[in-house]
Amino acid sequence: MARERSSLSRRAILGAGAAAGVGTLAGLTATPAAAADREADVIVIGAGLAGLTAARDLKKAGKSVLVLEARDRVGGRVLNLQVPGGGVTEGGGEFIGPTQDRMKALADELGVGTFPTYNTGKNLLRKGGKNTPYATDGLLGAVPPIDVAGLANAAAVQALLNDLAKKVPVHAPWTAEKAQEWDQQTFETWLKHNAVVPSAKFLFDVACTSVFSAEPRELSLLFVLFYIAAAGNESTPGTFERLTETANGAQAIRFKGGSQLVPIKLAETLGDSVVLNAPVRRVALDGGTYTVTADGVTARARKVVVALAPPLAARIDFDPILPAVRDQLAQRLPMGSVGKAIAVYDKPFWREAGLNGQALSDQGVVRSTFDNSPEDGSYGALMGFIESDQMRALNGASEAQVKAAVLADYATYFGEKAKTPTAFLLQRWDNERFTRGGPVAYAPPGVLTAYGPELRRPVGGIHWAGTETSTYWMGYMDGAVRSGERVAKEILAAL
Ligand SMILES: Cc1cc2nc3c(=O)[nH]c(=O)nc-3n(C[C@H](O)[C@H](O)[C@H](O)COP(=O)(O)OP(=O)(O)OC[C@H]3O[C@@H](n4cnc5c(N)ncnc54)[C@H](O)[C@@H]3O)c2cc1C
Repeated sequence: MARERSSLSRRAILGAGAAAGVGTLAGLTATPAAAADREADVIVIGAGLAGLTAARDLKKAGKSVLVLEARDRVGGRVLNLQVPGGGVTEGGGEFIGPTQDRMKALADELGVGTFPTYNTGKNLLRKGGKNTPYATDGLLGAVPPIDVAGLANAAAVQALLNDLAKKVPVHAPWTAEKAQEWDQQTFETWLKHNAVVPSAKFLFDVACTSVFSAEPRELSLLFVLFYIAAAGNESTPGTFERLTETANGAQAIRFKGGSQLVPIKLAETLGDSVVLNAPVRRVALDGGTYTVTADGVTARARKVVVALAPPLAARIDFDPILPAVRDQLAQRLPMGSVGKAIAVYDKPFWREAGLNGQALSDQGVVRSTFDNSPEDGSYGALMGFIESDQMRALNGASEAQVKAAVLADYATYFGEKAKTPTAFLLQRWDNERFTRGGPVAYAPPGVLTAYGPELRRPVGGIHWAGTETSTYWMGYMDGAVRSGERVAKEILAAL
């Protein structure tokens, strides 16, 4: 099955690499017509980090692979945006941190450098209409200046979450002793009983929306505990603070040239095995062979890797139809609602005021921000997340309306200068045809215990990858890479 009948020109992918930093890579994409009929040992659906990693490992092991990608670019939820006037910034997955070893190793292997996220100066808390800067380098790290009772309550709740998370096995959260009890309630219900001081509850609410782009009322407590457990690696247990913190947490490090350089360079190593502009519509089994039909491409293989978020995978027509439990799992894992808004300025002016650009707020459409300026600070960039309820409230809003609302927030946090950026970039993921939300597909109550084992269970020769299938760092770029590595091993053992 190793014969490939026609191929995408290698130049197309190299061109994409050469244009690193450009998000859409327009004009550099392959035409599926050039790859109309192909065969491979394994077909990988989706050229995000998961699919590309799987393809790389399979190819290294001597298998022929064909990656079919719907978009005109690789990277999926990882996307560089071109800053007018030069430079790039990230519209999707951006940061890595301690214990995200697999993503770091991949970047190192591909020669993509890193630098620390800007974290010098004070954070800002906007609460009850008041701005309060606070230090990030105290004994306990960045502790928001809320009332003493709230701080004590927040510390106790965080410690309890970490303790409970230790009881959740990352490979099978549904087997935790209290899995049923924890999966019957939302994170909101649990918080109401535990984060009893309003200021503490506020901190967990904003942390929750920042991490999941979903409200506490939407998430299963078991899923949240699993996510905390997964924020570590084989030798370091996950913690809540590793999810939320900048220094020493998941937001500690950025990539030189933008995070999308990693999937772009990875795709370069795969050359003509990657076909762009090829949304897969159908996967049909005939004898022992799968026929995968994408726009302009029909391809055949003995094994198929579906490297998509489960709700996107459910949009493909499988024949024979998938087992009921697998399809119902996909029906029950919605994507969060998220957008990123980046305002560009001549310089990072907030730094002069002793601020690090990280604001946390109880109001506005953007309730958490970062300094997304380039490493050399040659211009300033403020990045804000628009999450869950705030993102939904902007359904149907024009970019101009979103921009006005975002800049009003930035001005509230950082002063009037924030209202006059030199450029403004908006990346809404809920409006992306081939993602429809983010950063991750999350589990509401009752899903993990009833359907969790289906997440990674192969269906015949169809194997599942994607960050949602990862044990450690599910939801993150690291989880995507881990899932690609795992699925490649699974297939190599079976082929
Ligand atoms: C706003 C935002 C911020 C984030 N921030 C961070 C962060 O700071 N750090 C971090 O580690 N992670 C972050 N993430 C999450 C991270 O980006 C994802 O976990 C990771 O990129 C997922 O990779 P994947 O390969 O599993 O899936 P995807 O990247 O979603 O890849 C799936 C691919 O499949 C393609 N596809 C879809 N349907 C089809 C089809 N029918 N046929 C063919 N191809 C198809 C898609 O176009 C896509 O390229 C963020 C995500 C978002 C949206």
